Amino acid sequence: MDNIKNPNEQAWGLALNLLTKRLPSHAINTWFVPIVPTEINNEKISLSVPNQFFLEWIESHYGDQLLSAVRVALKNEQAAYHLLVTKEQKAVVESQPVFSLKKPLKKNRVNKNYLFKNFIEGSNNEFAKNAAQAVAKSPGEPKFNPLTIYGGVGLGKTHLLHAIGNKVLEKEPNSNVVLVTSEQFTLDFVNSLRKNKTIEFTKTYRRADVLLIDDIQFFRGKEQTQEQFFHTFNELYQSGRQIVMTSDRFPSEMKGLQDRLISRFQSGLSVDVQPPDFEIRVAILLEKSEQNGLNLKYDEIEFIARHVKNNIRDLEGAIIRILAKSSLMNKEIDFNLIRDVVQERVGNSHLSEVTIEDVVKKVSSLTQIKEKDITGKSRKMEIAEARQLSMYLCRDIIGTSLSNIGFYFGGRDHSTVIHAVKSIDRKKEKDSRLRNQVNSIKQDFKFLT
Ligand code: ADP
Ligand code: MG
Repeated sequence: MDNIKNPNEQAWGLALNLLTKRLPSHAINTWFVPIVPTEINNEKISLSVPNQFFLEWIESHYGDQLLSAVRVALKNEQAAYHLLVTKEQKAVVESQPVFSLKKPLKKNRVNKNYLFKNFIEGSNNEFAKNAAQAVAKSPGEPKFNPLTIYGGVGLGKTHLLHAIGNKVLEKEPNSNVVLVTSEQFTLDFVNSLRKNKTIEFTKTYRRADVLLIDDIQFFRGKEQTQEQFFHTFNELYQSGRQIVMTSDRFPSEMKGLQDRLISRFQSGLSVDVQPPDFEIRVAILLEKSEQNGLNLKYDEIEFIARHVKNNIRDLEGAIIRILAKSSLMNKEIDFNLIRDVVQERVGNSHLSEVTIEDVVKKVSSLTQIKEKDITGKSRKMEIAEARQLSMYLCRDIIGTSLSNIGFYFGGRDHSTVIHAVKSIDRKKEKDSRLRNQVNSIKQDFKFLT
């Protein structure tokens, strides 16, 4: 007998079927397969997605198609869908803060996605993380008050600031945690002047149990705001309330801030965050690609980590871009796509360092065939093979155009180069000696194999 299900339960399956007919399979696999329907009735279908990024992506790119599929599936022209990030899915896929930029933080609101537990620790940031955790554990301890976290962009300062807020609120849900950017603070102050509401302003800030201020470098040159901040600071400090600030540089190097403000800042502890080294970049990429359901090979991760070096925001950006690009252009995520994304982000400088000459040199030293033979006209088998191998590697590693390769290797035309590339590609499948040569040269150029 047929297993007759509640028609509502089948609705999502039906909607998915419809979508599969209308959208490329890659889009379905990336964005729709991970969806879990949580609640379905005649009017509405609730769908749980892994994270905020997913949610926004689906809405902005596939919202219309999803809606129409849901309406057909539910046989109701008025039906709606509702996307949500559920706790269970969140537990697996913890944080995508960078993706929620569209929804600015409300004042005093701590971003729930920035937590200590998803802050990857390394030698570059462990001191800052430990200090932040200590502060979150017992806010107001004189030796950590105020705490200043400083360092370059995209290195996790804001993340740590919010993590402190989240931790404090987890322990003391009623605690008055005030988290603002220095710009918001300034704006609030200016507005309070304009609207004659300085008392309200004072109340908001001076009643904080924990005051978390992001990017205080923007106080630079704003004398009146600094004055206000100074009073707020003093009042909180004297009553043992915790203040944490982030800044782009060490407090004493902050130009344009009044000296008395700076000396106040220095009465506590200043900790820095540094750019991540190679291993930490790999760890971050592994973590972030897993969070996004992006299945990269270890070699590919290493490749990204080798080239995208500056900060963690860029690493995250690369992952998102890979997802986005493959989805938008309906392309498989393969090495070419990854290389394109990395190249877009770091420019050509790193990737085009290798020249045709370098490749020929390597092939020559590996095969013991002279460079001038490789680029010459001899048809002797081993020489011809070394030549083909060189052509293949130029194409693969540098991406040199077919005609340039042909020109370099004895003025041959592009069809000869295509033939060479194909023939090496085919031969290396069967011939392990050749395969090893290809791999070893690519390794030498620190390239993916
Ligand atoms: P900053 O405030 O220093 O410019 P952010 O805190 O905004 O940098 O970090 C940029 C992005 O990188 C955020 O999405 C953040 O979650 C992420 N990030 C930074 N450091 C880490 C880390 N150590 N582990 C995990 N994610 C990190
Ligand atoms: Mg920041």
